[in-house]
Amino acid sequence: CGIVGYVGHRQALDVVLGGLRRLEYRGYDSAGIAVLTGADLAVERKAGRLANLEARLDEVGREGFGGTAGMGHTRWATHGAPIDRNSHPHRDTTGRVAVVHNGIIENFVALRGELESAGIEFSSDTDSETAAHLVARAYADGETAGDLPASVRAVCARLEGAFTLVVTHVDEPDLIVAARRSSPLVVGIGDGETFVASDVAAFIEYTREAVELGQDQLVVITREGYEVLDFHGEPAPAKPFTVDWDL
Ligand code: GLU
Repeated sequence: CGIVGYVGHRQALDVVLGGLRRLEYRGYDSAGIAVLTGADLAVERKAGRLANLEARLDEVGREGFGGTAGMGHTRWATHGAPIDRNSHPHRDTTGRVAVVHNGIIENFVALRGELESAGIEFSSDTDSETAAHLVARAYADGETAGDLPASVRAVCARLEGAFTLVVTHVDEPDLIVAARRSSPLVVGIGDGETFVASDVAAFIEYTREAVELGQDQLVVITREGYEVLDFHGEPAPAKPFTVDWDL
């Protein structure tokens, strides 16, 4: 439902929680965040209001969530009950890849069957979790090994349905990859910081310079900027615009 991703110089936890708060008006049933902490990914997810997630963060201690790249999600469940383990972000079995997803992966039953036959154990009932395992496998070996944007592209080509995906990998701590098909995705361009979101409301507090992604496009964001590609890996046209509405 609501998505925020951030790479910059501020604490990602604060930016992401603030962004999710700004997207609350859309309605949701669960919330979660992931922060790249260097050697690891810190993830917390909770059914119910954002306040439940924040209470949980206070319980476990926010000091475990230090880092300047991260993402968050507010979920409106379509596949799987609105409970903690179905909340996003979803991870692969090694915990090195995290994914948030808006929309519906129509062919997830076939994809899940394929992954389960390969010995992968799922930890949720969602369609979204398939994307985390597929990206992890694409990154681990084969043609797209070690290349996160290429891995996400290869996975998107296999997905049917509507999606906005935001993906991080522990081995790529300085970038975030996001992609879309039939579901909204905007980039926010700041000074030494870059955002992705399902809606400009998520980052308008920090920047009004934005780029809207087109159909079947992917964006790689870093602290320095962004690059838009199509699902074949070719540079795609992107038109920056200025958000002119008031807070
Ligand atoms: N289909 C996904 C799920 O049920 C994403 C739902 C959403 O767009 O929030 O978890």
